[in-house]
Amino acid sequence: MTAAAAKTPSRVEHFDVLVVGAGISGVGAAYHLKTQTPGTTFVALETQETFGGTWITHKYPGIRSDSDLHTFGYRFKPWVGPPIASAEAIVNYMGEVITENDLGKHIRYGHTITRASWSGRDNRWTIDAVRKDTGAAVRFTCGFLWMCQGYYRHGEGYTPEWPGMETFKGRIVHPQTWPQDLDYKGRRMVVIGSGATAATVVPAVAKDAAHVVMLQRSPTYFIPGRNAIDIAEQLRELNVDEHWIHEIVRRRILLDQHNFTKRTYEEPEAVKAELLAAVKLFLGEDYDIATHFTPTYRPWRQRIAFIPDGDLFQGIASGKASVVTDEIERFTEAGLLLKSGREVEADIIVTATGFELCPLGDIDFQIDGKPLNFGDSVTYRGMMFTGVPNMAWVFGYFRASWTLRVDIMADFICRLLMHMKAKGASRVEVAIPSSLKDMKLSTWIDPEDFNPGYIMRGMHLLPKRGDTRDWSHTQDYWSEKDELPKIDLEGQEFVYGGVKVEA
Ligand SMILES: Cc1cc2nc3c(=O)[nH]c(=O)nc-3n(C[C@H](O)[C@H](O)[C@H](O)COP(=O)(O)OP(=O)(O)OC[C@H]3O[C@@H](n4cnc5c(N)ncnc54)[C@H](O)[C@@H]3O)c2cc1C
Repeated sequence: MTAAAAKTPSRVEHFDVLVVGAGISGVGAAYHLKTQTPGTTFVALETQETFGGTWITHKYPGIRSDSDLHTFGYRFKPWVGPPIASAEAIVNYMGEVITENDLGKHIRYGHTITRASWSGRDNRWTIDAVRKDTGAAVRFTCGFLWMCQGYYRHGEGYTPEWPGMETFKGRIVHPQTWPQDLDYKGRRMVVIGSGATAATVVPAVAKDAAHVVMLQRSPTYFIPGRNAIDIAEQLRELNVDEHWIHEIVRRRILLDQHNFTKRTYEEPEAVKAELLAAVKLFLGEDYDIATHFTPTYRPWRQRIAFIPDGDLFQGIASGKASVVTDEIERFTEAGLLLKSGREVEADIIVTATGFELCPLGDIDFQIDGKPLNFGDSVTYRGMMFTGVPNMAWVFGYFRASWTLRVDIMADFICRLLMHMKAKGASRVEVAIPSSLKDMKLSTWIDPEDFNPGYIMRGMHLLPKRGDTRDWSHTQDYWSEKDELPKIDLEGQEFVYGGVKVEA
């Protein structure tokens, strides 16, 4: 049954805070609400039948993280496995967080939120959702909305329209909706794309496929390396407590990443040479690295995937996988015709071509009866938005693990909630101070700085940024970890309302 067809709910449940989603961000939000805001009632609504988000949706062969789990894991729960982890291991870790902290009772699965309506009269959100099991409409109200919906549409990935797709006699598959019955044993495969997903799928299917071609329009940077962290191994040898190991390894990784990012700005050519040298170690001097693995852009303008044990390059070196750098002219019955005139035959074509950006979880937002155009709002530090009261929205880091921001944003949101409670305020909104009223506004992120396809395609859906640190998402964990705790909640950016006056 659709949302429209569902009957009007007969009862309404109220919570102080409602969390959208039970991925790594939503489960993190639940943990922090429980531990940092005593007495606050909350619920997380999740459309899927279980927690995990990204790590449940994606079921393609080899599915794994591309950043380390010491920093992709929460700061409060040690990660004890190898740094690059399978989706299964990540979901197990999240399951432990839920069980150990008794969060299960706060999460409702199979609840798809369709509408969020803010009432300035009541200073409340009304949240409409549909239960997957019964199709029933359910309604909640909440004082504060904590958006943990991720950044892309889970139901479907992004596949460009190429001429002749309908003529292809084989199967076209998007990794995000990988058919669990797909038999690729002994088949010729082409994976279109060379991002982290392609780099995972290619070595994973190469073992069983007849051959797999990674077809890319332009090359990508990768960091191949051992799937282990030296300092973690040394500390474990010394029987150091896992909590300590987690903290020490996080600091090591974060410092290394900070220095690496800095170097990509200060000495991009040297960094590029190092990245290419690492690839050469696997592929040898004779391999055409200039064509297939040398991007034209400065390192870090797109996310760089870590390739554990260089498995992608091992697959290529073994001859089971190969790379073609060319453009698609059209699909044919037998495979692909490329712009160079070359034909690549295939039984299965995997379109690892990315995501559809979906900033608000396909929820119809209304503010006092008017539809919200999120793209018109201006962001306060990538967390709150002008014109959208009592709402925080989680968007992690591109160049560092997403979850680092989940933890530090949660500290901020919990502090804000407790501050409102202490003040007796039922409404908070961010507003650009009059001193900045002429501030230049621009797109959510500077495309010169970071420009993956899904952001470029969907930039108009994302809020605007100003030209100060407060009025932009700096993407800089290193400074945010110190700046967010110091935000003055009585600063002029925060406008409170609904304050109860004692008689
Ligand atoms: C294959 C893949 C690998 C990645 N690897 C890394 C990595 O190694 N490191 C890294 O930092 N980042 C990685 N990312 C980015 C990754 O998505 C985020 O880091 C992180 O998993 C996002 O978590 P999240 O909880 O914010 O969002 P999601 O995992 O997207 O979860 C959002 C949840 O909200 C639910 N939801 C959305 N809308 C609604 C609604 N209307 N009603 C109810 N529920 C709703 C969804 O069902 C989903 O479960 C990867 C992404 C992909 C796709």
